[in-house]
Amino acid sequence: MIRFLLCASALASTLSLAACGEAAEIAPPPASAPAETQTGQAMVAAANPLAVEAGLEALRAGGDAVDAAIAVQSVLGLVEPQSSGLGGGAFMLYFDAGTGTLTAYDGRETAPDSASPDLFLDENGQPLSFYDAVFSGHSVGAPGAVAMLALAHGDHGELDWSDGFDAAIELAENGFAVSPRLHGLIAGTAPRTPLDEWPASRDYFFLEDGSPLPVGHPLRNPAYAASARAIAADWRNLYSGPLAEAIVTAVQDEPRPGGLTVSDLAGYQALRREAICRPYRQWTVCGMPPPASGGVTVNEILGLLESYDMAATGPESVEGWRRFIEASRLAYADRDAYIADPDFVTVPVAGLLADDYISDRASLVAGSTATPHVTAGIPAGIHVPGFDATPDSPGTSHFVIVDNDGDVVSMTTTVESTFGSHRMAGGFFLNNQLTDFSRIPVDAEGRMIPNAPEAGKRPRSSMSPTIVFDAEGQFVLATGSPGGSSIIGYTAKTLVGMLDWGLTPQQAIDLPNVVANGDVVRIEAGMDPAILAGLQDLGFTLDANRGEISGIHIVRRLEDGTLIGGADPRREGVARQP
Ligand code: GLU
Repeated sequence: MIRFLLCASALASTLSLAACGEAAEIAPPPASAPAETQTGQAMVAAANPLAVEAGLEALRAGGDAVDAAIAVQSVLGLVEPQSSGLGGGAFMLYFDAGTGTLTAYDGRETAPDSASPDLFLDENGQPLSFYDAVFSGHSVGAPGAVAMLALAHGDHGELDWSDGFDAAIELAENGFAVSPRLHGLIAGTAPRTPLDEWPASRDYFFLEDGSPLPVGHPLRNPAYAASARAIAADWRNLYSGPLAEAIVTAVQDEPRPGGLTVSDLAGYQALRREAICRPYRQWTVCGMPPPASGGVTVNEILGLLESYDMAATGPESVEGWRRFIEASRLAYADRDAYIADPDFVTVPVAGLLADDYISDRASLVAGSTATPHVTAGIPAGIHVPGFDATPDSPGTSHFVIVDNDGDVVSMTTTVESTFGSHRMAGGFFLNNQLTDFSRIPVDAEGRMIPNAPEAGKRPRSSMSPTIVFDAEGQFVLATGSPGGSSIIGYTAKTLVGMLDWGLTPQQAIDLPNVVANGDVVRIEAGMDPAILAGLQDLGFTLDANRGEISGIHIVRRLEDGTLIGGADPRREGVARQP
């Protein structure tokens, strides 16, 4: 408890993150807390009912949140292959209720030893187009989700590691029904996702007459079952031996073969990092540190809003959204300027979250009309780097698990773009995560971009697995979303929605998404036309009435210990109890 409070106050005052130690400790529930707030409640919220059921089954079998996470991930990789899987990466926050310890696990994909800043430049020094880069072998990083789960399992698992793959193996062997969303993505996104051009994905996803698998088609994946069996026997079987060789063969395939080798795979390391925690009103909001930009940027948005009475300006008010938009624009500008792999560049995490920096920048939220153009600030501890406007496209999945002991997993997991690089090995897709690097290494003014590719580096992520605690260090809620760089806006919306606007998890999810990164504000269809008109009157440039593919999953604990969940209707998920 003391350690966490020191950490939180260090963030708030002296900003020395190093003072927080390796894992931020959260106060355990007070001994006087009612029993039902400590045990007996569990929930899984994820993007597919089969994955949720696998997680619940792990909990019923006596597993904890990490055991359930392994089961959820191994099934998601099969039934939601467009979003995450054995060939992808992930970030996970894990709260151990018994010890009050919060750990951030980094399973981010890593660039091969052969990578250099010109990874995505063609022979004329020009950047490849985004999709030429995505579908090239250059985009594939050494996958980290499996190694990360193995690390977390070693720390916290209760069941055998292999148990986490039982449900996935059974579904892969016996078949699962193709979901409407999977069908739509197979059918609907060509020619940008040429699934029917690669033999492995063509044979898997299309009927003999070339038509995409229909909804409900019983899909078997023996190759996935074999991979899952190998990984269940030993997680290292993904990183060496026949599976590793199959991955490298797929990466080195035409067009534009990539440089990932078996030695890159064998050298992959999942990491424990220190979560980013910052007070927000009476709560403490914890998120993922760099190379994820989520923890810093979500906390910066909240920090910029804290001096404003957001509860008094709810989601039905133009003023509430104006503040949310301006805070988002300011925090996104800082994110684009500063965040990258901290093992390669200096990331001014403490400077960006310093009270004096936040309070200076929060004054920019005070105006009554739209700020015409927003730029990055200059926090302590940084020179001005190049500006990185790397786009990314929405794949990815977020899930939350609370187990019977009150332990919590908040995990965002991804193959990056929809179906990743489209290259398959062992029945699963290989990520295209390296396109989260800046494809150009220097900006228009010739300044080096912190998020440029380098050997052994991890690309900047927007993933924002988040856990919120109350003043006693008790778990309040966990949230997060897929959605590329919009993840930050989606996640911040749910936090403001629940913490300031008093919404339930489902109401916060359902609220139209508002993503303000730059001069154009994206507003999802469903927003009250009076709010749109009001924002326009203030001078904002809106891209309104658009679709936003968030995939937010939330579990919240009420004061009486009851858990309530929420699942994003924009995807196919559910929140259920064992
Ligand atoms: N690759 C993105 C990231 O790590 C996530 C992509 C997505 O959500 O679709 O930030």
